[in-house]
Amino acid sequence: MKIRSVEPFILHVPVTGSQIADSTHTITHWGVVGARIETEDGLVGHGFTGTHAHLASDQLVTRCIATCHAPLLIGEDAGDVHRLWRKLARDPALQWVGRAGITTLSLAAIDVALWDLKAKAAGVPLWKLLGGQVRPKVRAYNTDIGWLSIADDQLVAGARRAVDDGFTGIKIKVGSSVDRDLRRLEAVREAIGPGVTLAIDGNGKWDLATCLRFCRGAEPFDVFWFEEPLWYDDVKGHAQLARATRIPVALGEQLYTADAFSEFFAQQAIHWVQPDVTRMGGITEVLQVCEAAHAFRLPVAPHAGDMSQVHVHLSFAHPACEVLEYIPWIKDCFTEPAEVVDGHFRLPQQPGAGTTPTAAAWQTLRRPTE
Ligand code: MG
Repeated sequence: MKIRSVEPFILHVPVTGSQIADSTHTITHWGVVGARIETEDGLVGHGFTGTHAHLASDQLVTRCIATCHAPLLIGEDAGDVHRLWRKLARDPALQWVGRAGITTLSLAAIDVALWDLKAKAAGVPLWKLLGGQVRPKVRAYNTDIGWLSIADDQLVAGARRAVDDGFTGIKIKVGSSVDRDLRRLEAVREAIGPGVTLAIDGNGKWDLATCLRFCRGAEPFDVFWFEEPLWYDDVKGHAQLARATRIPVALGEQLYTADAFSEFFAQQAIHWVQPDVTRMGGITEVLQVCEAAHAFRLPVAPHAGDMSQVHVHLSFAHPACEVLEYIPWIKDCFTEPAEVVDGHFRLPQQPGAGTTPTAAAWQTLRRPTE
């Protein structure tokens, strides 16, 4: 499994409708920014990070893949995933310019591609390589019905439709105004009834005082978790909020390292743990977070920067993973889409990590990498 080449790629995939918004972002496309790694015996692996499809910043990641990480990989054995992770993550020159951000997103894409290769070489889907199936089903929750840009009546209609389609969990965005968001939360809870889990996501917009005011109003509606209530790195603020409200606190999609999660665990500032293989240093580092969360008896609900193509494997294989996000934007770009049937993810069957693009996606959605 000697590595012959490492090539970056960018795909820009349209979101549902023409655009969506949360409290901090408005986007029209999702960026699938990654690495295609080929070995001398002809195996090909793909891995990617997730972006907001801003070409200039996507090209910072592809340049890091091509000019900084690729030279460290050529000639190496692709099967040595953990050793190669350390080689890239602890490279003295790269560590100096970034232990988070662009270098980590590049590392994420490469690490996922290496796991994809390893699973393909073994002829098994990734979940088997990660220890096998620990649960018969992975429950999906639907995020795509709950954007802040969706009008109130459409939000309620979409929530009802998701439940009719078999989802037993949904998530809606908050972070506009306390009054508007409470009104929408109440309307959705009334529409879906008490048997469906209803999470909310603030995308780090509010301060502690606003969160406390919102939570007092939201507590009667049985909120499953409040995701990113505060600025992403604010450990102390999340700890204060977690003590002050009955609503569980969820976060992690903007944390780049296992060390960052450790601090939230130590300060009891988190109830639901949301690492993302596309944001951290890939599967290798997310596995560390899952293990640590499990040791703290905290459930994991991976954030789906990969739209669950990879996380579905992790969720079938790791005992800490309780529930998984569903957003359908990019699934049809892959030879084995992450599919939900009756509110649960289908168990992947193809060898690899679920990251092999279809020929059609490769031809029609690619953008220049420099
Ligand atoms: Mg979120």
